[in-house]
Amino acid sequence: MKRTRNVKIVATLGPSSDTYDGIRALHEAGADVFRLNMSHGSHEEIAEKHKIIRQIEEDTGSPIAILADLQGPKLRVGVFAGDNEQLDEGAKFRMDLEPAEGDSARVTLPHPEIFAALTPGATLLVNDGKIRLNVDACGADFADCTVIAGGVISNRKGVNVPDVELPLAALSDKDKADLEFVCELGVDWIALSFVQRPGDVEEARGLIKGRAAVLSKIEKPNAVDRFDEILAVSDGIMVARGDLGVELPVQNVPPIQKRLVRKCRAVAKPVIVATQMLESMIESPMPTRAEVSDVATAIYEGADAVMLSAESAAGDYPVEAVTTMDNVATEVELDPTYTQIIESSRQASRTTVADGIVAAAREIAETTDIKAICCFTQSGTTALLVARERPRVPILAMTPLQSTARQLCLTWGTNCVMTETMDRFKMAVVNAASAARRQGYADKTDQVLVTAGVPFNVAGSTNILRVAPCDERLIFATDPE
Ligand code: ATP
Ligand code: MG
Ligand code: MG
Repeated sequence: MKRTRNVKIVATLGPSSDTYDGIRALHEAGADVFRLNMSHGSHEEIAEKHKIIRQIEEDTGSPIAILADLQGPKLRVGVFAGDNEQLDEGAKFRMDLEPAEGDSARVTLPHPEIFAALTPGATLLVNDGKIRLNVDACGADFADCTVIAGGVISNRKGVNVPDVELPLAALSDKDKADLEFVCELGVDWIALSFVQRPGDVEEARGLIKGRAAVLSKIEKPNAVDRFDEILAVSDGIMVARGDLGVELPVQNVPPIQKRLVRKCRAVAKPVIVATQMLESMIESPMPTRAEVSDVATAIYEGADAVMLSAESAAGDYPVEAVTTMDNVATEVELDPTYTQIIESSRQASRTTVADGIVAAAREIAETTDIKAICCFTQSGTTALLVARERPRVPILAMTPLQSTARQLCLTWGTNCVMTETMDRFKMAVVNAASAARRQGYADKTDQVLVTAGVPFNVAGSTNILRVAPCDERLIFATDPE
């Protein structure tokens, strides 16, 4: 699917988007990556959505990334007999270990370790901090609370205990089972929740064994403190503002977001800004001005992708939410101020031949009339380097590997085309030129840039830059080999 926008859109799937038509409508409206949240929905439901996405990918002929988000050591309430309950300020509410479905007076909190660590006076925060409970009394299997800030509580909402340190492993048994399940199903990215140290990422990587790329969700103060080390062992990052804004004062989130986005771009790894971007669109077809501004800000900062959570998973207007993001992105990217910000924040960290080639490609493309930068890539690294340059012309990543094409769906400005394995540079040029024409980026009379590595099919070997005509006859007439 040809997009004219550079920033990517991640849409979480849920009950509002679980049919072929519903998910296809999200893709056509602009969703490039689909997020399957392992906290919600059974393995059968996850497998069903996965199958639908792969079918849409086949039917539309464009790669789509699937991101499986592991729950991690997140504390969640159980389910309610009526799916949700209103909690009013001043009301009494109990959390306990009873397995029975919840009602307006109590709900299960299936975590004995919380009850062991709680003390009277502690605060429990529910649903990204929207509901606030004060613990009046507690024991080994219950906490009696008073509602300080009320709201609707529903099935499996997250619970944070900011005052109490909890001894939790990075990957629970459920996470390990979910990880194996989605790896076997075949997903492109696995997101790790509540990463605290680089070892958490390495542990997951050891279990993933190269079957998917690894994205670390930054939502703990520890992860912010050790961000550089975590980034070094991750393939991508999510600024998970929901829990981050509960674990840290909410006003700390914007500067952290800015800093993390810049650091990711500096090392050419994709970064997603996530949570509450268009929150009011869960119930309204129109976003607030502040939400529109938030989406725009993330794009101006240079994020690779912006994300929808409940808006597309459980809201009333999932397609409208994607369309809103698409419209905001298009408008921001047309703004000369955007180009100026993005180009002035480019950091020159040129240490390899590939770095030099992609920088040269951008400069040539911007000083002459070049329609696209076509880069041959195995692992995706060259495409990531081209994207880091944030060129003004479209990037076409040409790869024989479906997994690379899909993973790159998360990367700023990168359009992927599957190609056969190349062994001669002339054929690579012919292929790139015809892909650029086929995808509507160039005509026969235009020129494109082609980068590749010779010998072919060796990762990290980019060493050729060619300005090529889009007319095959001219390529055959002028190219020696
Ligand atoms: P996370 O911390 O991983 O973001 P979350 O509970 O906030 O977890 P989101 O994926 O951000 O979950 O979605 C926001 C809300 O949308 C959820 O709390 C839930 O109410 C609803 N939701 C999302 N996916 C599903 C699903 N598959 N089934 C039911 N409800 C869902
Ligand atoms: Mg979260
Ligand atoms: Mg969330």
